[in-house]
Amino acid sequence: MTNDEAHSVTRASTFFRYSSFVIRHSLSCLSLTFFVPLCYAAEPPLERHEFREPHMGTEFKIILYTADAPSANAASRAAFDRIGQLDAMLSDYRADSELMQLCAKAGGPPVRVSDELFFVLSRSQDLAKRTDGAFDVTVGPVVRLWRRARRQRQLPDPERLARARELVSFDKLRLDESSQTVELLKPGMQLDLGGIAKGYAADEAMAVLKRLGVARALVAASGDIVVSAPPPGELGWTIGIASLDGAGKPPSDYLLLRDAAASTSGDTEQFVEIAGRRYSHIVDPKTGLGLTDRLQVTVVAPSGTTADSLATAVSVLGPERGLKLVDATAASVFIIRDEEGRRKVIQSDRFKELPRAKAKRSN
Ligand code: ADP
Ligand code: MG
Repeated sequence: MTNDEAHSVTRASTFFRYSSFVIRHSLSCLSLTFFVPLCYAAEPPLERHEFREPHMGTEFKIILYTADAPSANAASRAAFDRIGQLDAMLSDYRADSELMQLCAKAGGPPVRVSDELFFVLSRSQDLAKRTDGAFDVTVGPVVRLWRRARRQRQLPDPERLARARELVSFDKLRLDESSQTVELLKPGMQLDLGGIAKGYAADEAMAVLKRLGVARALVAASGDIVVSAPPPGELGWTIGIASLDGAGKPPSDYLLLRDAAASTSGDTEQFVEIAGRRYSHIVDPKTGLGLTDRLQVTVVAPSGTTADSLATAVSVLGPERGLKLVDATAASVFIIRDEEGRRKVIQSDRFKELPRAKAKRSN
């Protein structure tokens, strides 16, 4: 007897969108009822609990297994509070966030920042160096113009775009580890952590759950998912990789993951179409243009921070350079590309070796 459940994870960074991942897992009632009490009589059976809350412009979802509802409620509350705290630090939408206050001091002397902001900026700068600036959190001024372009359905004004591009350069963002300070060398520079913050927040939420004794959990923020030990009786959490066609279409592959993170970046939902061309919300810092390649990138990595940022980086680098980048890390990558209407799938060798789940019955 199997009780199948399927969940769609809503993803968005500036507004709600439909799922990039379909997450499912199954729970074998029989094995729990008959075997668990015999073998582990001391351990109470675990119950499944699910919670959702809006944060960081998207919906965060937590699934966890605990002995009772009060401990599940307390653990999820603490995890969401941590996410809320990080949003208040890292958001580029809130003028009072630590990030925006740092940007307001661009052109001035170094600013001491929190452990969290320093950590995310350090990881961002590491990746910027390894990708020759394909991943670059100083892309803020250009991203803002593209957000407006999306709202107005009009390409950014070339002169404004040129001025914005002059402010984009990761080597004008200086970090000093000993004093934990950050310096933005040019006035007007704007940092944007949209390509890394959700993965980091999911990691931190999972860390809170672990500290509170929750070992089996999933934290998902739209296309960014972090999982710990699997549901009871399962070998992993079943994670479906969405097809390039977007919401409602069956996933193109199913993974079985435990103690890992998976992130998807792509233009399936967030893009603007102008004069017959699709421009993604991911920007190539070299050109200042939204990506026009139809590409969906899924990265599986040990942490959400790594998976999220690598997925964005590979989107900019494209399959060839992206595969090389990921192969040089412990991560793996799956890319679906549209080549004149034909779908091409590119997987790294390590991705091919990841355990697969059988495609389960539909929702
Ligand atoms: P999503 O927000 O859909 O999960 P991503 O993780 O790929 O997708 O992040 C995209 C966001 O990252 C953009 O909305 C923007 O805030 C930021 N961004 C865009 N281009 C870059 C880039 N080249 N490097 C770093 N961050 C970027
Ligand atoms: Mg990302």
